[in-house]
Amino acid sequence: MTATAKTSLREQILALPKIELHRHLEGAVRLNTLVEIARQYKIELPAYDPDGLRSYVQITPDSPMDSTHFLSKFDLLRRFYYSQEVIQRVAREAIEDAFADNIKYMELRFTPKALSKLMNFPFDQVVDWVCQAVNAAQQTCDIKVRLIVSMNRHEGIKEGERALQAALAHRSNGVVGIDLAGQEAGYPGTPFFTLFKTAQKAGLGITVHAGEWAGPGNIRDAILQMGAQRIGHGVRVVEDSTIVQLARECGTTFDALSRTARLYSWRGNAVPRSKSAQRATSKADRLPVSSITRCAIWLILALEQQSIPTILPSAISR
Ligand SMILES: [Zn+2]
Repeated sequence: MTATAKTSLREQILALPKIELHRHLEGAVRLNTLVEIARQYKIELPAYDPDGLRSYVQITPDSPMDSTHFLSKFDLLRRFYYSQEVIQRVAREAIEDAFADNIKYMELRFTPKALSKLMNFPFDQVVDWVCQAVNAAQQTCDIKVRLIVSMNRHEGIKEGERALQAALAHRSNGVVGIDLAGQEAGYPGTPFFTLFKTAQKAGLGITVHAGEWAGPGNIRDAILQMGAQRIGHGVRVVEDSTIVQLARECGTTFDALSRTARLYSWRGNAVPRSKSAQRATSKADRLPVSSITRCAIWLILALEQQSIPTILPSAISR
């Protein structure tokens, strides 16, 4: 394929109407916005321009590829949430950016703990602010957005319970599901089993990050013990055919993004990595950690390999 043809393909993919089911608000902040907020609130940063800041908040081609390094990016990103204004600006811009990428439907996930920690805002308050901003942005952008409230394995069950209560309180405000994320290695899902079953019984959609930084047994737990309808990343499911079969039987789907596929590839496994995807990832400006319009990358991967590397997940929104 010539360079021109590849450029054209990328432009065509970007022009396609898309569905985005796995975008983290905290990983979707514009670099320029970070710089502006830092100046406004006098936040100390290692650099005050987008290019200088990039390596501190974004996975770059030279970054060590491990979960600790990846999650460390979010430590710095948590230092910006000083006010309702900041939280709502970030949420609004995430919707505007998705709209600009021609995404027609998006499920945006966010972690109340991440937004509330700096100023000790109540979880219920930050969830309400995000809902308000997202619902307002939908009035001006032609996009439908539903929200998933996320909690981190490594931050413990108490924080999870607070997140669940806030999610349940805002079901009529756009919240449709809950998610388990964070450090997977060393943090099994066991403490969260009951909480996720409670959420499932209450009618929330369930998605769990599993089988990415730890083995495929976490995917089995997510399906059987937590009621997961969707698995975040989950690329290590290919290591255990019995869990592949379980996922098939339960209709569980996988959000397998290019980053996950690349990490898996770098561990010496079979999932191919795409040079186009790497180039596109390293060029992106708007999404500091996640880096790119993932739908486009996903499609580029699929088209280049001439096979679909994952299953298109079903929407969990109502
Ligand atoms: Zn994720």
